Order: sequence, then C-alpha cells, then structure tokens
Amino acid sequence: MTTDPSTTTTADDAAVQCPYCGSTDTKREHPKGPSLCRSMHFCTDCQQPFERFH
Ligand SMILES: [Zn+2]
Repeated sequence: MTTDPSTTTTADDAAVQCPYCGSTDTKREHPKGPSLCRSMHFCTDCQQPFERFH
C-alpha cells in the first residue's frame, strides 16, 4: 500500500460524484484547489473536469 502525502484522504473526498454523469469514478486533480473551499476533480468516465465546493 502506497501513501501519497500530497493527497490526504478524508471521508468527504472518498467518493465524489460526477455532476455530469453521476459516476463516482472520479479523481482529485489537486489536493488543494484554487481556494480552500473548493477542489478540482476529474471524472474518468466522461472525461470531464469539475469543481467541488465544500
Ligand atoms: Zn462523469
């Protein structure tokens, strides 16, 4: 098991649902988004980047 210190997994980010297709097969683009209250994600299903606001 590898641990990436740049990605701190929390329950909040465990399964982010894609707003376009509803898939939870998404990944976080950056550990910290443009601001502290949002993060960038990328849906591997429909290949769409999206922001998630906290
Ligand atoms: Zn999607």
